[in-house]
Amino acid sequence: MGDRFVAVEPWKFHKFGGSSLFDAACFRRVADIIKSQPAARVGVVVSAMGGMTDRLLQLTELAAKDDKQYEQELKALGDRYAAAADELLSTESRPGVIDQWLQDARDLTDMLRAVADTQTATQRSRDQVAGFGELWSTRLLAAYLGETLPDQRGGRWLDARDILTVRHGELGPAVNWPVSQRKFDQQIGNFEQGVVVITGFIAVDEEDCHTTLGRNGSDFSAAIFAALAGADELTIWTDVDGVMSGDPNRVPDAQIIDALSYNEALELAYFGAKVIHPQTLGPAIDNDITVLIRNTFAPDRPGSRIGATIEVGNSVKGITAIDRMALVNLEGTGMIGVPGTADRLFAALKQARVSVTLISQASSEHSICIAVPEELADKAKRVISGAFAEELKDGQIQRVDVTRAQSIIAVVGDNMAGAVGLAARFFSSLARAGINIRAIAQGSSERNISAVIDASESTRALRAVHSGFYLSTKTISIGVIGPGLVGGALLDQLHKQSEVLRDEFQIDLRVRAIGRSKAMIMDDRRIELADWRAAMEKSEQAFDLQKFVEHVDADHLPHAAIIDCTSNNEVAGQYANWLERGIHVVTPNKKAFSGSLAAYQALRVAARRGSAHYMYETTVGAALPIISTIRDLINTGDKVRSITGIFSGTLAYLFNVYDATKPFSEIVREAKSSGYTEPDPRDDLSGMDVARKLTILARELGLSLDIGGFPVQNLIPEKLRDAPVDEFLSGLADYDTEMESQFIAAREQGKVLRYVATLNDKGEAAVGLQMIPTDNPLANINLTDNIVQFVTDRYAQNPLVVQGPGAGPEVTAGGVFGDLLRLAAYLKGND
Ligand code: ADP
Ligand code: ASP
Ligand code: MG
Repeated sequence: MGDRFVAVEPWKFHKFGGSSLFDAACFRRVADIIKSQPAARVGVVVSAMGGMTDRLLQLTELAAKDDKQYEQELKALGDRYAAAADELLSTESRPGVIDQWLQDARDLTDMLRAVADTQTATQRSRDQVAGFGELWSTRLLAAYLGETLPDQRGGRWLDARDILTVRHGELGPAVNWPVSQRKFDQQIGNFEQGVVVITGFIAVDEEDCHTTLGRNGSDFSAAIFAALAGADELTIWTDVDGVMSGDPNRVPDAQIIDALSYNEALELAYFGAKVIHPQTLGPAIDNDITVLIRNTFAPDRPGSRIGATIEVGNSVKGITAIDRMALVNLEGTGMIGVPGTADRLFAALKQARVSVTLISQASSEHSICIAVPEELADKAKRVISGAFAEELKDGQIQRVDVTRAQSIIAVVGDNMAGAVGLAARFFSSLARAGINIRAIAQGSSERNISAVIDASESTRALRAVHSGFYLSTKTISIGVIGPGLVGGALLDQLHKQSEVLRDEFQIDLRVRAIGRSKAMIMDDRRIELADWRAAMEKSEQAFDLQKFVEHVDADHLPHAAIIDCTSNNEVAGQYANWLERGIHVVTPNKKAFSGSLAAYQALRVAARRGSAHYMYETTVGAALPIISTIRDLINTGDKVRSITGIFSGTLAYLFNVYDATKPFSEIVREAKSSGYTEPDPRDDLSGMDVARKLTILARELGLSLDIGGFPVQNLIPEKLRDAPVDEFLSGLADYDTEMESQFIAAREQGKVLRYVATLNDKGEAAVGLQMIPTDNPLANINLTDNIVQFVTDRYAQNPLVVQGPGAGPEVTAGGVFGDLLRLAAYLKGND
């Protein structure tokens, strides 16, 4: 070996897909990536500019119909190309590239004319036409690199057809390696330094005729050239961050897979993950070439690494779907125990060149079912019917059925082998989404499980299965209605906490919709809560409750919850519907739970039917643990004998402050201007708010209480009930002496005035002003505190007291958040 031993660093190969080459800006981006490569020898395999191959193929379709439109279309392609060349190239190199294009356009026109004359587009002419896209993109890139790379490192251009020689076999194009290698070595065997730009997709066959490697075939070209060059690494640059756990266009939650084995990538590609052409892996495996999938538009991200090693970790790597399939079913008792039926079937199909994507045979051998591409279904049926003509005639085989519009859903992963429960999870995810499975197959390597389903359900199925494997069972799709004071504070709190909850507790709270009376925003994954206010302001989407609910109740997420932060009756009226369809409801809105008893009972029934929860701790005393305390007491066997409390922060404040030194009306006015009352203080003074809260508590005790069924003292003088707010405020002064005399009467007995709600286990309830001894806890609360005393069998002598701030956006939002977390804790696993 002696003097031949030169330690040359291996080639590095890069492939840029059409999605990375849309316009001049894209070419610049690509060139920047190439420039930053440190390797001495860089091979760059390039697809046609995005969409170009499709457009070229359309030209042949038009020509085949003798539609002259193809001439204009071709001109449009030229314009697009010239525009990119104008932007990228100098006046020196531009004419050469454009001349080449014009020459090609003339050749192309001749070919299209020939197609038009015969009105048929043969595979060969389609291949020839389609191949121009790669010639054009590579010439442009090579010329641009020639001008921009230093030291003439760039600019070398290679037409793959001078090297890559293939034979079209049953499994697609097969490389003639010895011939291709010889030609490669002749052309660039001794290339030492720089960048070579090579056309993807195109090749020649063994008769030296132009051909292609099939749609999406540039990935395969790149792997072949990397192998020919002895490269140890191939980076496939595309428009996503890597191989993802599901097609990102269809599965909003798809995640980047950091590392995959060759086999995993192969299975995913085979089952339809478009990001990589399935044949790409062959040359990579044989030559131990590491394949990286990276994003041209985000070159700082690491992407996915595909190599020989099996990673430990997630047993399921990805979920994919192949659409446009048909199921062919061969059924008959005559097949039972007859050896060789399957062999005959496959031999016949093989001969007719029908490739079978999935096979499923019942162990009784009563039926065999195969999935084939839909366009081959009729052929498959014909072939099978021919091969089993005898049996069909004799009735041993009853029929050959074809079901069209099917899809195959597959889950893929090396570590699936031996992992228990994966199939169960796969099928239960489909079942939960109500998707019917028509056939099932598991690869003997246990690296994949696949199921055939109706094509119309394939996206839903992908999402459901993906969430079954990838999402925490405590993932909740959330819609917030009413992002006002409380709702807004809640969204901010969720924003702050959600990462910790996700990372540490696997509680994934995804706010996916926010709506208020006029507008709404929705997001498939999750709304970026850092700037929800701005997004809300910008939103041009009118609020539509039905759309909102449909969006929140997404099939692909395990749970859905609506948080109603309005005090709206109409929204509250929807709870029963939501609960019935399984959507959980969390709310500080009192309306539904204190409405008519019949409506309240309907809510309970709906929740039971839909297995949904409704959480409303904050309807009484904001975040104070009042409802949960009652539940705990009851559930642990205690008996609540009575409840006494102050449930209105506003009324608590008014009577805490009022000491007859100032008129009561003055105190009301001050409280209003400091924001302690509702905009119309009568909403507080009417006592209705307290009555609603007491009703909710009574129902918690199992009592059939209804608003109207117990006395509620209204503190608004009758005459002022319908007056405008201002008139009410000034008119209230006329009643100051009345209040004062009540206060003095109380003081004389050593008591104070408090607006109190009471309830006992016989269902007796009342709401109104009471004189309370000054040593009673109810007489000793801070400003707007709420307080509740529970007398129970266990707390008979000394009541249980819950006290603290019972209003305010932050604490109420905190309470709603707490309810949401309790909800998450209730939610069981998926399977
Ligand atoms: P290129 O033009 O670079 O070859 P393709 O459009 O052929 O790009 O492939 C990339 C596209 O593949 C992505 O934009 C994405 O929409 C789609 N895709 C489908 N399944 C997957 C998957 N599992 N992971 C990543 N991308 C996928
Ligand atoms: N340009 C070809 C196609 O669109 C090949 C490729 O992009 O991989 O199919
Ligand atoms: Mg591609």
